[in-house]
Amino acid sequence: MSDTPAPAAPASSRAAMKKELPERFKAYKNVWVMVELERGQVHPVSWELIGEGRKLADKLGVELAAVVVGAPEAGTREAIAEGFVYGADLAYLVENPILAEYRNEPYTKTLTDLVDTHKPEILLLGATNLGRDLAGSVATTLLTGLTADCTELTVDAEKSLAATRPTFGGSLLCTIYTLNTRPQMATVRPRVMPTPTRQEGRTGRVVEHAVDLKEESIVTKVLSFLPDRASHRSNLAFADVVVAGGLGLQGAENLQLVRALAGVLGGEWGCSRPCVQKGWAPAERQIGQTGKTIRPKLYIAAGISGAIQHRVGVEGADLIVAINTDRKAPILDFAHLAVATDAIRFLPALTEAFRARVSAHTSDRLAG
Ligand code: FAD
Repeated sequence: MSDTPAPAAPASSRAAMKKELPERFKAYKNVWVMVELERGQVHPVSWELIGEGRKLADKLGVELAAVVVGAPEAGTREAIAEGFVYGADLAYLVENPILAEYRNEPYTKTLTDLVDTHKPEILLLGATNLGRDLAGSVATTLLTGLTADCTELTVDAEKSLAATRPTFGGSLLCTIYTLNTRPQMATVRPRVMPTPTRQEGRTGRVVEHAVDLKEESIVTKVLSFLPDRASHRSNLAFADVVVAGGLGLQGAENLQLVRALAGVLGGEWGCSRPCVQKGWAPAERQIGQTGKTIRPKLYIAAGISGAIQHRVGVEGADLIVAINTDRKAPILDFAHLAVATDAIRFLPALTEAFRARVSAHTSDRLAG
């Protein structure tokens, strides 16, 4: 068992697997990122992928393109401008009223048509509900390889995409290649990659593309849109401070200690998977490989052992503080600070200490 990336297949064994790339794929060039635009809003994972795509394009010495698809004037131009600010060199734009709401058929037709016409060598999508649905159907339509939920993307010495992802229940990481077809496709979950720095004033070329879509040949119809009011209840993935509890808290009632500390710190609360499985917390609060990936400035883990499936969801945090009675718990391998104590007794004291500081700070500011 290992929590470090599997060593890439030796060049010799890759060479044995690798057939000559068929002639029709040799023209495939550039890195593309599908910008996920829904109801005028771009999913932030798109910018995280632009940052990652930029690195791949620079390594390959090619251009990075943002792909923006939607109804005319439904935020498409704004999305393209943002794509340039985050690092894209050019944008492919498909506008059509039929693309107003996401539906698998017209989006798959649009993206496969774009790929067939402009031939990217790498195509990245977010591992969101939309991205997972679209990536799978585009890959199967194009008969190419797709590596889902990647945690690391790079290009090897032979300029092939090396896509690393957890496997065997997260106990191993494997690196997957798409050697004989194009494009090489991958999805990445939100918050796995950092948001790149904005470069204000940066701009690029826009290539408009028309796709022949006919409403009568699309079997799915959108009758109405009902927003999921629950989906905004937790902002775990984007919070600056996250406090989470695990089985070490010994009961659902003690998760309240985690919520209280998160509240005082102005952050969000979460938990390990067994807490969800035991019904102590709703699934939207789960952090880790099969829950949310977080990138806060501060992550406090109370009574969490730090199993690999939890670790992969939190290691993007700037500062990890573990509160654990076991000095040999795996979380101490990657926490920056550890408090070796009983979290059930320590959390209320920590919360009170922060509460006192916050109210002293507020009084000083009011007095000043
Ligand atoms: P435990 O491993 O039981 O650890 C409890 C910790 O609390 C121990 O380190 C103990 O020393 C400490 N402790 C005990 N009492 C106290 C106390 N009073 N004060 C302080 N510390 C105390 N897990 C996730 O979290 N997220 C996932 O997304 C996820 N996905 C998974 C996917 C798959 C396919 C599989 C197989 C597993 C997944 N898991 C996931 C489960 C994961 O393997 C671990 O079982 C889980 O993370 C352990 O949860 P825990 O740390 O809360 O509990």
